Amino acid sequence: SDSDPRLPLQLMIAAPRGFCAGVDRAIEIVERALQKYGAPVYVRHEIVHNRYVVDSLKAKGAVFVEELDEVPDDAPVVFSAHGVPKTVPAEAERRKMLYVDATCPLVSKVHRQAERQIEKGQHILFIGHAGHPEVIGTMGQVPEGRITLVETVEDVARLEFGPDDDLSYLSQTTLSVDDTREIIAALEARFPQIVAPKAEDICYATSNRQAAVKDIAESCDLVLVIGAPNSSNSLRLVEVAERLGTDARLIQRADEIDPSWLEGVGTIGLTAGASAPEKLVREVVDRLSDWRQVEEQVVTSAEENMVFKLPRQLTD
Ligand code: SF4
Repeated sequence: SDSDPRLPLQLMIAAPRGFCAGVDRAIEIVERALQKYGAPVYVRHEIVHNRYVVDSLKAKGAVFVEELDEVPDDAPVVFSAHGVPKTVPAEAERRKMLYVDATCPLVSKVHRQAERQIEKGQHILFIGHAGHPEVIGTMGQVPEGRITLVETVEDVARLEFGPDDDLSYLSQTTLSVDDTREIIAALEARFPQIVAPKAEDICYATSNRQAAVKDIAESCDLVLVIGAPNSSNSLRLVEVAERLGTDARLIQRADEIDPSWLEGVGTIGLTAGASAPEKLVREVVDRLSDWRQVEEQVVTSAEENMVFKLPRQLTD
């Protein structure tokens, strides 16, 4: 049987996977803030969507809250990598709080594009998923009523704009490259006057991780994606594999793997979302090795060397 421990399990590990430059930077910001200001350092929202990361920082003295009103006036606070609406730093200024913004520079770039589009008098159609903190943050860069969320191709058909409206679009950084392409095509078909952003908003890490999982998915019987259920880019990795006809499962930790998943599986794929540490990848490989003789192969589809500068207030 396939659960025979002597029967080898081919393991294809996608590369790039796991931490992106924005996540690396956000975690380092919390660590440096703890060193510089001492515990407790408050963090508004999970710094990145990963329980292991959040728990490790909690152990070092970070306190995670959802809103600024849970933070005392005199305690330092870090804003998460996903970005925040303008009301958040404004409130921190009003209360004279010490805050550090860990918003990923690639999210900030989308924020600035949104401001420019509004200055030009355009109404923004924002492609994203309702309720995600990045969406709340980006929509909160512009006055209410000037930006409309578009989640699907069906949403495009329901929009109440006409040929004379000045429209532009933007997107969340962690979407499915393929789904977004379809939504943009629908927008451009319905509103030929719509203005595209200067550069694509889906970030390099999102595109690279999706391309990497595409490269392995068709050769695999099952793909495991390490990531949190609220991690947008991780959920998209599951969808990318499924779209190619391969079963895929999102797991947070190795202990969630049910050995029955391996029945009939000769080749398994493994990747990790941008907020999942490499340590969790090794944990999964070790777990699989408990049941089968694992033959590991890393499949690299792109090299990454992106590094983002830390905020100056933490590098003095
Ligand atoms: Fe930045 Fe992309 Fe990473 Fe999000 S996934 S933190 S946008 S690099």
